[in-house]
Amino acid sequence: MKRGIVGNEAARFTDATQEMARKYIEDAIVAHGATTVVSGHCHLGGVDIWAEDAARELGLELITHAPTRLTWQGKGGFRDRNLRIAEDSDHVLCVTVDRHSDLRPGVFLRGCPHCDKPSRGGVPPHVPSGGCWTAWAAAWRSWAIVPTVRAELVYGGCA
Ligand SMILES: [Zn+2]
Repeated sequence: MKRGIVGNEAARFTDATQEMARKYIEDAIVAHGATTVVSGHCHLGGVDIWAEDAARELGLELITHAPTRLTWQGKGGFRDRNLRIAEDSDHVLCVTVDRHSDLRPGVFLRGCPHCDKPSRGGVPPHVPSGGCWTAWAAAWRSWAIVPTVRAELVYGGCA
């Protein structure tokens, strides 16, 4: 089972939400018996790189599709890269945070441009990610949305 793992860049996370995201990533790999992890190797770090770390730690096959140009269009651009992740994955997991770390508790972001559409209902509010685009392009998809307030309680630290 090939599991694509995509999501927010590193800047969207605090130490505590990163800790929880890494746990979600590892749990998702183990719970679904993934033998291969597919990553987009985002140059801004974050979920892509943590997924690669988890694959190495668990001794799994790792497929990385790093973009070769930092543009949406064109061969090797983000769109092309995202489609290759979707095609190579049996299931894509998108890991995002529920809100920006500088929002007050209880204030949630609305309107991920990829997920907040009538035909795509059911994904709870989250910080938008290019990974959402990739997840919707995949045959099967799910979201792991890190609850920021709970992460701060569980893993501590000052955001
Ligand atoms: Zn989304």
